[in-house]
Amino acid sequence: MSTFSAPKGTYDLLPPDSATVLAVREALAAPLRRAGYGYIETPVFEDVALFSRGVGESTDIVSKEMYAFTTRGGDELALRPEGTASVLRAALQANLHRTGNLPVKLWYSGSQYRYERPQKGRYRQFWQVGAEAIGAEDPALDAELIILADDAYRSLGLRNFRILLNSLGDRQCRPVYRAALQEFLRGLELDEDTVRRAELNPLRVLDDKRASVQAQLVGAPMLADYLCEDCKAYHEQVRELLTAAGVGFEDDPKLVRGLDYYTRTTFEFVHDGLGSQSAVGGGGRYDGLSEMIGGPALPSVGWALGVDRTLLALEAEGVVREPAPSSDVFAVPLGEQARKVLFGAVTGLRREGVSADLAYGGKGLKAAMKAADRSGARFALVAGERDLAEGLVQLKDLTSGDQTPVALDALVATLKEKLK
Ligand code: ATP
Ligand code: MG
Repeated sequence: MSTFSAPKGTYDLLPPDSATVLAVREALAAPLRRAGYGYIETPVFEDVALFSRGVGESTDIVSKEMYAFTTRGGDELALRPEGTASVLRAALQANLHRTGNLPVKLWYSGSQYRYERPQKGRYRQFWQVGAEAIGAEDPALDAELIILADDAYRSLGLRNFRILLNSLGDRQCRPVYRAALQEFLRGLELDEDTVRRAELNPLRVLDDKRASVQAQLVGAPMLADYLCEDCKAYHEQVRELLTAAGVGFEDDPKLVRGLDYYTRTTFEFVHDGLGSQSAVGGGGRYDGLSEMIGGPALPSVGWALGVDRTLLALEAEGVVREPAPSSDVFAVPLGEQARKVLFGAVTGLRREGVSADLAYGGKGLKAAMKAADRSGARFALVAGERDLAEGLVQLKDLTSGDQTPVALDALVATLKEKLK
């Protein structure tokens, strides 16, 4: 019989790497916790219309990459391709915007699904830690989020990343720019796909990675020249606040993002060691999204950081995180009676907060000591019939090799002291 493999574009997280992944997720979220963001969890699937309306019909995410399906009951659902639409949907459904302070600040950590061409740094299931600040228009909020992401990456030891910053304008000035850009694009010789994109979502053409297209775009009207006074002033304040906080950024007038709902502040964190999958995180302001999904006007801003690519970035920079040992103490029983006693000792240690494991499976001394070494534990707890008769166990320091007898009833206190 053939065995199974994880589906294309997915991978399993296994020890010891899985411990690093947990630590990275935690580190990315830590700055948010300190800034008043509350944790939110939403379903992995939603009404497909939430994404087609929220993220936008003309985006690659919705038109090409969505895992959409019909249930036995006839509901049209989709696996979430991103977090923002779901978080806003949940906040609206629970009336958080009416019952609490504005902005409502939320963070999440979860898997996302996109039917993409799998390659390094691009998967069909991937993980994001994200933050949303819902219901306030304030440049300090945009700056806060960018600073928190910067803090998060730095706390992990990352240095070789850059922040790209742009403003996409608002509902006053963007349509004027959109029309001007469309006019310009109509004058170019473009392939069929790109012509269609130019009609549906012309700003996305600016984002085309092909050098040939980029060459044609020289001389295209730039959004910066079309920003209204309000948008210009807003953007200038975001830039000032970042500079005052010591957070460097690059103005990138061509930075657009793959989702339709962005307005004004848009940013991306790119890492220089990742090849073409260089974006480790991104986000921006989405003042129109709430209304697009049937809510009241709620200007908001948020970001999502890619955990998978953050790990690749750590690897690229050679940042090593010491894998935590699976336990501090590893018990090696010699004989049936010792097995019972040490099983009790291990249970007692765990209850006292000391991580402990045991050589299971009736191993002999040699195999059991090997298991203790491999576990990465600092101490082995060895006991045979003779020790037990005297109420003792042997505590072996696996780093130095020193072995000392310890009274069974002093074991917890002794280990707690030694592990301090
Ligand atoms: P890209 O331009 O690389 O496709 P994106 O603009 O589609 O990125 P977002 O939707 O902004 O990405 O998601 C935020 C972050 O999530 C990205 O910066 C990236 O780190 C991560 N991410 C997005 N898609 C994938 C994927 N298929 N696999 C792994 N990580 C991803
Ligand atoms: Mg993408």
